[in-house]
Order: sequence, then C-alpha cells, then structure tokens
Amino acid sequence: MNSQSPVALVTGSGRGIGRAIALKLFEKGAAVVINDVGDAGPAEEVAGYIREKGGQSSVLLADVSKENEVTGLFESIISSYGRIDILVNNAGITRDQLLLRLSEEDWDRVLDINLKGAFLCTRAALRYMVKQRRGRIVNICSVVGQTGNAGQANYAAAKGGLIALTKTCAKEVATRGITVNAIAPGFIDTEMTRRLNDNIKQEVLKQIPAGQFGTTQDVAGAVAFFVSDDASYITGQVLRVDGGLVMA
Ligand code: NAP
Repeated sequence: MNSQSPVALVTGSGRGIGRAIALKLFEKGAAVVINDVGDAGPAEEVAGYIREKGGQSSVLLADVSKENEVTGLFESIISSYGRIDILVNNAGITRDQLLLRLSEEDWDRVLDINLKGAFLCTRAALRYMVKQRRGRIVNICSVVGQTGNAGQANYAAAKGGLIALTKTCAKEVATRGITVNAIAPGFIDTEMTRRLNDNIKQEVLKQIPAGQFGTTQDVAGAVAFFVSDDASYITGQVLRVDGGLVMA
C-alpha cells in the first residue's frame, strides 16, 4: 500500500450513493474498501474499476447490522491496509408503511441497518482512529430525520437517531483529531427513489426549489469536503444536500 494514501471504508458502496462516494474518495487519493451485503458482483465492479485506474480497492462483504461481521470487516481492513482513516456510514434501507400498519419486523430491520449499523462501524473504527489521533467519519442521514415524513416512521426515526449519534460522537472524539459529520440528502436519483410511484415523485418535485432530484455526485462532493483538510475544524454538523427542499 502507498503509505501516503488514506484508507476509506464506505458501507453499502456497490451501488447508488455509496458507489459515487467510493469513486470520489478514490479520485481524491484514498484506498477504498467497498462493502456490501449479499451479491458481490456490483461491489467487485466498483473495486475493479478503481484498480484499473491505478488505485487501491478491495471488496469486503458484511452485514453492518451484525456485530461479528463488523468486527471481521475491520480486522480485515487493518490486516490488509494497516489503518482506517475515513469511515462513511452509507448503508441504508427503507421499508415504508404508515405507522398503524408498520410491522415490528420492518421497524427493527430499518433501525438495525440505518442506525445500529452506523453505531457498530463507528465504534469499531474509533478503536483505531483514537490511537491514530486522526480520522474522519461521515454519516449519510436524510432530511426526513429532521422533518419527519408520513409513511417513514422507522426510517425517519433511524435517520434522526443517526444525527443525534453524529453530534454525540463528535463531542466525544473532537480532541483526538477526529471529526464526525452528517449529510442529509433530500431526494437523490437512485434505486431507492426509483421505487417511488410517479405521483409521489411529481409531488416531491413541486416542493424542491431546484426543480429536480439530486444526483449521487451531489452527495459524494459533500463527503469529499467533510473528509478534506479544509473541513478539519468542522464537526458535529449536518449538511443538507437537497436542492433547497428544507431550509431552517
Ligand atoms: P440504494 O441504492 O438502495 O443502495 C443501498 C446500498 O446499501 C446497497 O449497496 C446495499 O447493498 C447496501 N446495504 C443494504 N443493507 C446493507 C447491510 N445490512 N450491510 C451493508 N450494506 C447494506 O440506496 P441509496 O439511495 O444509494 O442510499 C444510500 C444512503 O443514502 C442510505 O443510507 C439512504 O438512506 C441515504 N439516503 C438516500 C436518499 C435518496 O434519495 N436516494 C435520500 C436520503 C438519504 P446490496 O446491494 O447488497 O443490497
């Protein structure tokens, strides 16, 4: 490994926003670990692309909601790269339903991946970052974690919790050279939002001052800023990337 390259883990980076973040961090000079759960194909494609372009990248499959898999994930990173400098907690799912019809199973699964997964990865990363006295953690939240959203009680609660986790963690590790920030995307064009029906999409579009959904690149650019030296005095913040959807 090039000892000058920071080492980054982006969870859920085989596709969507995570993929764009992984490619952006590679462009910025990082060695990037691609994580996904299930099918390794898309993750291998991202890592292969980075290696073809002369970068360093590998795939580590793990379910971020399972403590033993997260422990194994970080042990593999440290054994291969010797360090971890950047953690982007991006892995997330939705299981939308009105609260009265929301099952316990769908509540638990969304909280487990979106919130507990970020906790497990953050705790594992901090064990190394604290010793290094350097680190960057970026949590991919959502504007609905700040505003709430009908039909997304589980998801909004998870993302709101993730914002609270971001601020708490930022306070705990600020003296150790580690920053912890959150990005709250609005509506970004990915498989997650392509599942919405056309009526909902049209209604949402009317509320976005920019008049369009964001791209995965818009979120990746914000991550690149938070992990850069330009952002070393910024911690515990939530940056909305939403075309002006929420202003407060
Ligand atoms: P996506 O296209 O559905 O991709 C989600 C990624 O997370 C996939 O690579 C998926 O892997 C991975 N993943 C799911 N469960 C996982 C687990 N247990 N362990 C590890 N990886 C797991 O979603 P996206 O739109 O890119 O969303 C990325 C993040 O942005 C999420 O946290 C989401 O909540 C947030 N966000 C998205 C939007 C939006 O408009 N798209 C808005 C606000 C916030 P597999 O392919 O193996 O399933």
